[in-house]
Amino acid sequence: MQKRLRQPVVTNRHENGLINRHGKQLISFGCNDYLGLSRHPNVLSAATEATEKWGTGAGASQLVSGYSSLIEDLEQALAHYCGTESACLFGSGYLANLGTISALVGKNDLIIADKLMHACMVDGSKLSGANLRRFKHNDVVHLEQLLKEHRQSYDHCLVLVERVYSMDGDVAPLDDILALAKHYDAWLLVDDAHGMGVLPPYHGDYLHMGTLSKALGSYGGYVAGSQTLIKYLKTSARSLMFSTALPPASVAAALAALKVIQDEPQLRETVLNNARLFTQLMGLKEAQSTIVPWVVKDESAALALSLLLEEQGYYVPAIRPPTVPVKTARLRFAFSVSHTPEMIRNLIDVLGIEIVS
Ligand SMILES: *Cc1c(COP(=O)(O)O)cnc(C)c1O
Repeated sequence: MQKRLRQPVVTNRHENGLINRHGKQLISFGCNDYLGLSRHPNVLSAATEATEKWGTGAGASQLVSGYSSLIEDLEQALAHYCGTESACLFGSGYLANLGTISALVGKNDLIIADKLMHACMVDGSKLSGANLRRFKHNDVVHLEQLLKEHRQSYDHCLVLVERVYSMDGDVAPLDDILALAKHYDAWLLVDDAHGMGVLPPYHGDYLHMGTLSKALGSYGGYVAGSQTLIKYLKTSARSLMFSTALPPASVAAALAALKVIQDEPQLRETVLNNARLFTQLMGLKEAQSTIVPWVVKDESAALALSLLLEEQGYYVPAIRPPTVPVKTARLRFAFSVSHTPEMIRNLIDVLGIEIVS
């Protein structure tokens, strides 16, 4: 056993991106509530009203006891946002990937996935029993090679990618990937967990998967696509069929948050500007999303830096293998609208980097 024990720590999240951890108040760069919507007044009041009106729990799975008009409204709003005919909600993003991948493909099918895909797509792939092949991260030439070589030996083929990679913050070349999937008659599932609400929606003929739990500040997951496909998932995806529907407060909160991200585009500008300011001052490649990794390679160096930052009042998680490949341990900075340019400059000061501009 290597020394990679990771123990969750009691951490309370307060307003304005502040957290309490180890008895200390810290500015957090470790939260996916990028737009601060979990505390937006419209979102809070929607959740409270829904709870008062409909209670705290959904009561049963959708398949057995039907689904509320609130769920119907959110599914329609998500479909509209994604530019698809239809959408369906799952208990979480994890459950959405697990249920969707295992419903779509099986033993005689092929999955081709980006090397850096999230754990829940790995788990969904395993559960499906399909043959899994991986292509080099964001390498469309390698993806095409695998499609060319293996596609015809299988009934169905599913390509799995993320829009924004959760530990790297870089963006998939979706135009090219979509064209390849079409050319080789493969389905494409794009996990938009970290892009939704932060990058403009990317419309196209593929399966849109996302979470309500990050920029939307709520809880739950979704898949959006054609009417035929969503109809199929609702009666085939086991993580949806055999699990209780989302609580009214989560659904209402996500619905209100979805409206906020459309009405207040300046929120995503603010958070992206924060990330870009950081990469500019650090001399890193310009941020493409709210996530910026600082790869220090060595696991103990990453941990030591994270502890140093914590002593100085900042929380920046060290991400180590197996979450990321061996020798790519890193600090993962997640930016939000609650950060100010001053906070970012001070953070870099602590890192001991000379600010040139
Ligand atoms: C967080 C995350 C998920 C899981 O979403 P939850 O709603 O938290 O279960 C799926 N995919 C990616 C890429 C993620 O980062």
